[in-house]
Amino acid sequence: MLSKNEIIRWLKEKDAQRLEALWLQADRIREQYVGNTVYFRGIIEISNYCARYCKYCGINAGNKTLKRYRLSMDEILTVAQTIERLDYGTVVLQAGEDPALSGEWITELIKRIKNESDLAVTLSLGERTPEELEAWRLAGADRYLLKFETADLRLFNEIHPLQNNGPWKNRLEILHFLKQIGYETGSGIMIGLPGQTYDELAEAILLFQELDLDMIGNGPFIPHPDTPLGKEYERMKNSDQQAPNDALTTCKVNALTRLVCPTVNIPSTTALATIDRQQGRENGLLRGANVIMPDFTPLPYRQWYEIYPGRLQAYKPPEEQHALLLKMLHKIGRTMGRGKGVSLNYLKKRD
Ligand code: SAM
Repeated sequence: MLSKNEIIRWLKEKDAQRLEALWLQADRIREQYVGNTVYFRGIIEISNYCARYCKYCGINAGNKTLKRYRLSMDEILTVAQTIERLDYGTVVLQAGEDPALSGEWITELIKRIKNESDLAVTLSLGERTPEELEAWRLAGADRYLLKFETADLRLFNEIHPLQNNGPWKNRLEILHFLKQIGYETGSGIMIGLPGQTYDELAEAILLFQELDLDMIGNGPFIPHPDTPLGKEYERMKNSDQQAPNDALTTCKVNALTRLVCPTVNIPSTTALATIDRQQGRENGLLRGANVIMPDFTPLPYRQWYEIYPGRLQAYKPPEEQHALLLKMLHKIGRTMGRGKGVSLNYLKKRD
């Protein structure tokens, strides 16, 4: 159990030796609860069309310079085969909030993946209707990822203008619904959003615990020059309470998340690996994480899923990317997990 004040103290900690103790503790708890295997999830970014105007995101509807794409069902199924061939247990289907990805079309896609493979299916398609979420679950979808992005409702509303939440009050309500209808449920935040304080990061970590999530993905906010927040970024970052959007703070948030939620799956995110190309992915795994989500979006589409600039390994073919990841795991004494890698937190609730 960590109090909010203790969490804030860790988030502000600068002493490298004391931080070593935090990394060690997070690593021990990770090993004790979820073991030494690292689960791989192959992510396919199936569309970069988006109806939303999220102020931080490079694929938001207001970015008129971006080339838009939407994969066909056959293209997605072909990539899913590659993911299964490499022995990954999960495919993650992610997209902007694209109304052209109809509820029925996604249902059909899930059914075909389930019929043609043994893969677990994770969806990350934004704020969709209860009917759609339910239909996809019935069609066989296993997991749903929806980040609440920030625990501060005022900041959330500020960076998500012109929201049309349909029947939903807010994202927390959607997360409760996802859990209720049986999804393994994932959420997370961005770290270092302009206006985000240490206090609020601590609130978010405690909220992870309260929500009893199965997966928690946290990444640094990376400014995109073609977005409103990317443009305002330097001007807004001027308070001593402002949480930094750096690799160190991201690792602290992940390590503290592991301490308060020992049985969850935590990815070492691509955003962390992007801002620390040398050590990011590895440090994430050494400081609490037990999952990685390599990108399988085919060329040429991958470059257009530009939620932030300079994504790591943006152009490596799957086999090459996979070999590098196995080498990195070997170096840190971990092994690749086989099978679906269901969250222990989820299994625990179903016992
Ligand atoms: N539309 C879906 C949704 O909103 O959940 C999935 C796609 S959305 C692009 C996936 C995630 O990208 C968001 O939850 C957000 O955390 C992350 N993201 C977007 N822009 C980012 C940025 N500039 N820096 C870091 N992460 C970003």
